[in-house]
Amino acid sequence: MKFRLILRQIYTMRFDILTVLPELIESPLNHSIMKRAKDKGLLEVYLHNLRDFAVGKHRQVDDYQFGGGAGMVMKPEPIAACIEQLQQERTYDAIIYTSPDGVRLDQELCNRLSMLDNVLVLCGHYKGVDERIRETYITLEISIGDYVLSGGELAAAVIVDSVGRLIPGVLNDETSALFDSFQDDLLAPPVYTRPAEWEGKSVPDVLLSGHEKMIEDWRHEQSLERTRVRRPDLYEKYVHGDHDKINSVENLR
Ligand code: SAH
Repeated sequence: MKFRLILRQIYTMRFDILTVLPELIESPLNHSIMKRAKDKGLLEVYLHNLRDFAVGKHRQVDDYQFGGGAGMVMKPEPIAACIEQLQQERTYDAIIYTSPDGVRLDQELCNRLSMLDNVLVLCGHYKGVDERIRETYITLEISIGDYVLSGGELAAAVIVDSVGRLIPGVLNDETSALFDSFQDDLLAPPVYTRPAEWEGKSVPDVLLSGHEKMIEDWRHEQSLERTRVRRPDLYEKYVHGDHDKINSVENLR
């Protein structure tokens, strides 16, 4: 895994996000770790307003659905025009549509996506996009969970954030992403900071001991216990699974 992460370092990862509401994505990606990633030139995120690709006086991006029923559907032409213009400039390793019926985003998928160079993300809105767009262009459909959002913009921000922080150099401590929850199928151990005594509650002695090996063992035990109690499904995977979960990136391309 470390080997792959090091290989990644040579490139800048680029996201192109297609949306009818770019304002919804701007803020989460312009602060904190994502901002730092962009400032360091490790991550590039371009927002494309689909309305700029719509024609006619009203620059219409949606229309009534065939067969009747409430809710508008995103028209295919502006989306196709935007994707094709971008494809003339570069090849995309993945063309993602955010959708409740897609594969569930998890840490393993984030790890795999973080190896890619150019990723396009199409955000749905209203009732979603015309099915023919999905059939023609989309190579991967991602859901961020079993609930329905008003639009794909927040899902796109979640994808860029969870993937972007895995690019080597983005986090200050290069190794810290490797110890987050879900890496190795375990949840993270509890963490503490100063003061050592607060409201009658003290920090576990071992963390103040300065004894690296004991601290490492304690954290591992806590991770195991927390995972066993809170996520028995993950615990089973950890106990029985092989721990190098990073699959080849080839099947995403
Ligand atoms: N009628 C659709 C939902 C439309 S919600 C259905 O029932 O499946 C509008 C848009 O929000 C979707 O097109 C999708 O792009 C986005 N969206 C909603 N929930 C999402 C989720 N859980 N994960 C990712 N994208 C989601």
